[in-house]
Amino acid sequence: MFNKVLIANRGEIALRVIRACRELGLQTVAVYSEADRDSLHVRFADDDVCIGPPPSRDSYLNIPRLIAAAEITGADAIHPGYGFLAENAEFAETCAASNVVFIGPTAAQIRVMGDKAAARNAMAAAGVPIIPGSPGPVDDADEALTLAREIGFPVIIKAAAGGGGKGMRVARDPEDFGRSFQLARSEALSAFGNGEVYVEKYLARPRHVEFQILGDTHGTVIHLGERDCSVQRRHQKLIEEAPSPAVDRELRARMGEAAVRGASSIGYTGAGTIEMLLDTDGSFYFMEMNTRIQVEHPVTEMLTGVDLVKEQIRVAAGERLSVRGLPAPRGHVIECRVNAEDPARNFQPCPGKIAVFHPPGGPGVRLDTHVYAGYTVPPYYDSLLAKLICEGRTREEALRRMQIALESFIIEGIPTTIPFLARVMANPRFMAGEVDTKFLEREPELMKEPVPAAVA
Ligand code: ADP
Repeated sequence: MFNKVLIANRGEIALRVIRACRELGLQTVAVYSEADRDSLHVRFADDDVCIGPPPSRDSYLNIPRLIAAAEITGADAIHPGYGFLAENAEFAETCAASNVVFIGPTAAQIRVMGDKAAARNAMAAAGVPIIPGSPGPVDDADEALTLAREIGFPVIIKAAAGGGGKGMRVARDPEDFGRSFQLARSEALSAFGNGEVYVEKYLARPRHVEFQILGDTHGTVIHLGERDCSVQRRHQKLIEEAPSPAVDRELRARMGEAAVRGASSIGYTGAGTIEMLLDTDGSFYFMEMNTRIQVEHPVTEMLTGVDLVKEQIRVAAGERLSVRGLPAPRGHVIECRVNAEDPARNFQPCPGKIAVFHPPGGPGVRLDTHVYAGYTVPPYYDSLLAKLICEGRTREEALRRMQIALESFIIEGIPTTIPFLARVMANPRFMAGEVDTKFLEREPELMKEPVPAAVA
């Protein structure tokens, strides 16, 4: 086992990893930018190193500085969290070359799955269903249009290097196609430095259903069930739950088997997620694999009782997985992402100082957060403030707990998405479990603060 783990991240995930390390008896090193001096991850780690000015490229994305921080503090492993360098194959390689273990899959596994077009081909070869689409990247607009006609409209044009909902454009008809194709390409080039795109069928009302994968270096690959992440805004997840209201035992077995087959085909090691789209007719398709811990991992942790971050660390140290497969189901879990954003203003980020902070609590409530009263949310990073996760013996109980937890969650000083999330939890269609990835587009009133009734 390792002695000391450096966490190459910030915010709630840095705290989450520190907790796992402490439970395993490992020392921790926090790294921070000048904007994060007052962050809790700096306070709770055994050691800390300032790695540069606020912009991510000068700090959390700066590989030489991270490696130097590991060398100075004597860290023998690095946990990348999610975002930043978590899916950067070059970082994984540089760690290995510097005799520091990268807590995650191999650079080769990151590379295959990081290129969505290559990943599609790898999964198709393993017999996992993929969404009908172009066999590889296409760079000629006319050729792409011919392919789109064969696939059938509407189609989605996606950046091969894509992530975070960027570099994706839907084309409804051939007239629409040329413009969408150019937009997707230029967006891909500016966001990822790689303009490669491919085309696939655009499903009208799919659900986003993803499977949690764990693999070790002894050849075991398992899944820990699904998470339904269909409540999205602009292809970004806002609410996640498990089990999926649309997945029964039989479908879970089939989807889970496909996910494990896909991950096994590349000998996957560590924690990862196979993301799939589930169509209204029950067909499911591989969409992409994330080769890291996900934001929404606590949903699976609460449902299964498995500590995914501890499993990641154990696997990286060469140990066997401590679980054999999906434990017997026990209830239902829902997660809400609380962001410093203003839903009424197009979810514009609202950094600033938190004046009052009162967290929810009680049975079945978990809160993963790095913020506190007096903390200033810096403008440089993502706007996630907290993840609120509630479990219940039934979906109804989990939902009710979430409603109460959101009501008693007080954050003052900056706008947050708490009132918006509370409205979703009270929405009849959400309550009935009838959501797909277009749910929020059909319910625009959820974005708005209800007008208070006139005083008589
Ligand atoms: P990213 O890597 O940027 O997160 P994904 O490929 O994971 O992109 O897709 C994100 C979301 O975009 C999905 O959850 C889904 O809502 C939507 N999406 C992607 N591909 C399709 C498709 N072929 N048909 C319909 N929706 C899609």
